[in-house]
Amino acid sequence: MSSTGIGTVGDINLSPFQNEEAAYRFVEQCVWPEGPVCPRCGGSKRVRPLRGRSVRMGAYKCYACRKPFTVKVGTILESSNLPMRKWLQAIFLTSREGERLDANTLHHALDVAPRTASYVLQRVQSALSAAEQPVQRPRDDSGQS
Ligand SMILES: [Zn+2]
Repeated sequence: MSSTGIGTVGDINLSPFQNEEAAYRFVEQCVWPEGPVCPRCGGSKRVRPLRGRSVRMGAYKCYACRKPFTVKVGTILESSNLPMRKWLQAIFLTSREGERLDANTLHHALDVAPRTASYVLQRVQSALSAAEQPVQRPRDDSGQS
């Protein structure tokens, strides 16, 4: 069986693509290089990981505002039930393949439903292209005449 090949990536550490916990850790390190930050109040001092069998993967609680959250809050990953590792696979493939990647390829590569694949592709492509835009400077008035 051949696939589009998450496994063909050479020297990249693949565990975040295969292991859900590693995927969360990977994303957390990108989003929170200095440790978890509450997306609601911006605090980090009173944030603790939530533990227990019924707790969602990657859940934290901010004891300042008493709200639980995960690293997904406020990102394109929010409000999606897709496993984090599949998002990472999609982001990786999209950044490697660019516009050549289509939803059908992603559907096979991630082993997800076609509708999910096109949803993910759309969100990842728009996030990546937004990231490539130069920083917006809406209040730059130096060009006014
Ligand atoms: Zn908070």
